[in-house]
Amino acid sequence: MAKPDEPGYYKQEDLLSVDLQPPRTGWMDTGVDFKPGSFIYPGKAKNLDILDLPNAREWAVTDIDWQLPEGWQKTILDGMAERLGKYRSFKLFMDTCVRCGACADKCHFFIGSGDPKNMPVLRAELLRSIYRKDFTALGKVFGKMAGGRKLTEEVIKEWFYYFYQCTECRRCSVFCPFGIDTAEITMMGRELLGLLGLYVNWVIEPVANCYTFGNHLAIQPHGLVDTLEFMVGDIEEATGIKVDLPINKKGAEILFFTPSGDFVAAPGIYTCMAYMVLFHELGIDYTWSTYASDGGNFGLFTSHEMMKRLNAKIYSEAKRLGVKWILGGECGHMWRVINQYMDTMNGPADFLEIPKSMVTGTVFERASSTKVVHIMEFLADIIHHKKLKLDPSRNDHINVTYHDSCNPARAMGIFEEPRYVIKSVCNNFHEMPENTIREKTFCCGGGAGLGTDENMEIRLRGGLPRGNAVRYVQEEFGVNQLAAMCAIDRAVLPTVCDYWAPGVQVTGICELVANATVMKGENDRSIDLRLEPIPGRAADENDEPRGSSDDE
Ligand code: SF4
Ligand code: SF4
Repeated sequence: MAKPDEPGYYKQEDLLSVDLQPPRTGWMDTGVDFKPGSFIYPGKAKNLDILDLPNAREWAVTDIDWQLPEGWQKTILDGMAERLGKYRSFKLFMDTCVRCGACADKCHFFIGSGDPKNMPVLRAELLRSIYRKDFTALGKVFGKMAGGRKLTEEVIKEWFYYFYQCTECRRCSVFCPFGIDTAEITMMGRELLGLLGLYVNWVIEPVANCYTFGNHLAIQPHGLVDTLEFMVGDIEEATGIKVDLPINKKGAEILFFTPSGDFVAAPGIYTCMAYMVLFHELGIDYTWSTYASDGGNFGLFTSHEMMKRLNAKIYSEAKRLGVKWILGGECGHMWRVINQYMDTMNGPADFLEIPKSMVTGTVFERASSTKVVHIMEFLADIIHHKKLKLDPSRNDHINVTYHDSCNPARAMGIFEEPRYVIKSVCNNFHEMPENTIREKTFCCGGGAGLGTDENMEIRLRGGLPRGNAVRYVQEEFGVNQLAAMCAIDRAVLPTVCDYWAPGVQVTGICELVANATVMKGENDRSIDLRLEPIPGRAADENDEPRGSSDDE
């Protein structure tokens, strides 16, 4: 019998019959129902202690008493006042909304759940109502009549529930005539909750791991070396070539970093292997780092201060190793941090050079401030200059579609490069419907630290719009793979696809490129980087995939 943290617990027909009938009570008077599958467990005291965060204690979301610290209302209101003074966007977003409703049906969580408080406009009202009551003259005098309400423990519980049902994907902001970014309101909500020691463990444990080990997954330096060496072995099995593995190499031209999720779990590990294949084939002078061992930054889902601290290791390692510039791998939120915050937060990185491809000579002016280039920009340029020998027919068994990961799409506007790269290495490509891609892309449902199984119902509901679009191209065009350039996508979308579009696999983009790359001195390439036979190329199609049996 499946449990609430397993997809099998939820019948599709139940999730599809979304109840759009609003509750009988007004939204301010409707409490939160913490039922299994709809929330994430709280941050453990040991993790808060590591980070020196306040009010570390063991507690459960379903407790009646959340053990809030003495004077907690003042803490929150002081915290709001400080942030209203510090972040102009926050003040603007608190004052501006005209409740036109254009954003209301644009959030994947509202589409999948029908819960009115998952409408971006109402999610923001959870915070805005407190702002009105305590920071505006009208609210102070007229209270509820002016849309204000008192800060109670119930409000805090509601914040915790709904600010951890927002993946900070920013889809709603695309449709708002004022550009109100509800993701930023969620970020503020989470920061304020943090002042009371209210975190989810799925976010705060990776952050604590970063403090201790440099990466979310607590991989120790020698563990990372072992992992990468293991991948080198698998690459050799697939290609016949032993690729270089430069680690902590001083004086390398490039520091390369990527999210740690790609070191440990499929399908991300194949993306990681693909980087090594491509860098080897292109003869790039690069290095991995066991200190800057995570491009991912769950600080973004915690507080601005935490995001800044976790990100600092990247520039500091670039300086220590004496590299010229930095190249970043396939990640989502990492690119929001780099593209929108890194320069002012951790920069200026004047000790680095404006990135210039050592293969083509192209200068990446876009990265002249941050000095960090996205792997897709880099690869698109390489492919455009025909510096890789490609055989797209190796991917002919793949019928692929592309999921624009929220952050690279909406925070960077990287729409064309991944499509150009995919189409250069795959003969069969089909887009999902227009209102589900590019800047209107739908979230995987597990970003911003929501990718745990504890909230499986919410993940499946939030993944419905994306899953539905995948199902459409599966049925219409026979699509069997979904490419995504984000580690969280690679971790979360397999569940979404298995549930809403079974039969569709998830892949990174570099994996497709590496499989199509004809390497100098390679073997017959009858198996791919997953060590699975490539249809039409395996000597005996009935053979067991290599590497799948004896060595277990
Ligand atoms: S679209 Fe913008 S202005 Fe309209 S309700 Fe949503 S947040 Fe408010
Ligand atoms: S940022 Fe994304 S998850 Fe959050 S309210 Fe907007 S659409 Fe929903």
